[in-house]
Amino acid sequence: MTSGLSIAVVGGSLGGLTAACLLRDDGHDVTVYERSPAQLEQRGAGIGLLTETSRYLVERQGENVDDVSVLTDHIRYLNRDDSVAADYGHRYRFSSWNAVYRRLLAHWDVGRYRLGHEMVEFGHGNDGDGSGGEGAPVTVRFADGASVDADLLVCADGTGSTARQVIAPDARFSYAGYVAWRGMVPESEFAPAERGRLVDSITYYVYANSHILVYPIPGLDGSVEPGERLINFVWYRNYLEGPELDDLLGVSGRVASAAPKLSVPPGAVADHHVAEMKAHAAARLPALLAEVVARTEQPFLQVVYDVEVDTMVQGRACLLGDSAVVARPHAAAGSAKAADDAWALAGALRDASSVDEALAAYEPDRVALGKALLARTRAVGTRSQVNNNWQSDDPDIIFGLRAPGD
Ligand SMILES: Cc1cc2nc3c(=O)[nH]c(=O)nc-3n(C[C@H](O)[C@H](O)[C@H](O)COP(=O)(O)OP(=O)(O)OC[C@H]3O[C@@H](n4cnc5c(N)ncnc54)[C@H](O)[C@@H]3O)c2cc1C
Repeated sequence: MTSGLSIAVVGGSLGGLTAACLLRDDGHDVTVYERSPAQLEQRGAGIGLLTETSRYLVERQGENVDDVSVLTDHIRYLNRDDSVAADYGHRYRFSSWNAVYRRLLAHWDVGRYRLGHEMVEFGHGNDGDGSGGEGAPVTVRFADGASVDADLLVCADGTGSTARQVIAPDARFSYAGYVAWRGMVPESEFAPAERGRLVDSITYYVYANSHILVYPIPGLDGSVEPGERLINFVWYRNYLEGPELDDLLGVSGRVASAAPKLSVPPGAVADHHVAEMKAHAAARLPALLAEVVARTEQPFLQVVYDVEVDTMVQGRACLLGDSAVVARPHAAAGSAKAADDAWALAGALRDASSVDEALAAYEPDRVALGKALLARTRAVGTRSQVNNNWQSDDPDIIFGLRAPGD
């Protein structure tokens, strides 16, 4: 189709930036609107890097994926006494949110990245019922009262999406029953023998209703040089919904209709919970992994929710990435899904003769992919956190967007 559409992308994280870059490359007039008043910074939390997440950097910008990721050769399981329970040759790439974000931003025009723009609502023009008929522009309104009109609104506003409430009003947050405790430690803090065991693999320990995984990621400045990387942990622990979870998150009571609290940032987790978590690590985890937890200065939390949607499009507005389906992290595929949505959207716009036709082509595949990922990750999480039947040689636990390993 002809280029030159005016496109507003709301949310300037990995999904929004990938979409913005791809749509700009196709000749559209794209602006990113990001709620955060300051440059985004997620303190380098690790991500398993699937090919979709780095696809734009590699295919369109000719970057070397080795410059943004750390390669590991093993999947290793430890016993409680620190001995090796299982060890397989398997390659994964790990990166960090920061490292990928910085690279994507380097390919974007900062003048078209508008910080401090929180979308509060959107609506369609004069099509009679406000739902966005053929050709009606979409108006995006921000918290400061400003508004913009666009031919297409791409909502990449993440798990707590404002747009989802309008486009998929029946979607609900369903608490998985557990949270991810997270943190990073410079690899240089470990003795050479410990470091050697931590940097060549993803290391798991699976025990009663819990599991922890540890892997190397780039340093806070994005460096992948040995000695400058970080060791990242993600530890899934069960908390009852209600007062127990609320106390952990520092919330007092909930309003049923409000979006739940999704995370607690570094430095904001209550001291007694950090102390309990570190004591539990010392008592229950293999010494190597307990050491990673003990050395983490500011652990933080992300609550695991399932969110399922049946619709991703309304008029000329669409959802992308975590603003649509939110799947549990066990496939390491969240940012890959967001990036893959971006490629699918750009492709649909190229192939169609109108925005409406493109969005009609975009929606069904994306809904199906999200639902399949959610079902898969729900099953994997249930194995460790509920049923205690997680097996180290289970092929279903291999990371992947469309299927394990894919
Ligand atoms: C414990 C855990 C581990 C994970 N591990 C991995 C992994 O290994 N690999 C992987 O690929 N993914 C992983 N993920 C998932 C990954 O972080 C997300 O899927 C990914 O960041 C989604 O990207 P996004 O762009 O869709 O949304 P987000 O990254 O959530 O970004 C949304 C953006 O929108 C902005 N925003 C929100 N509301 C508004 C508004 N109203 N107006 C304007 N801007 C707004 C936000 O400030 C933010 O910048 C993990 C997630 C968790 C919780």
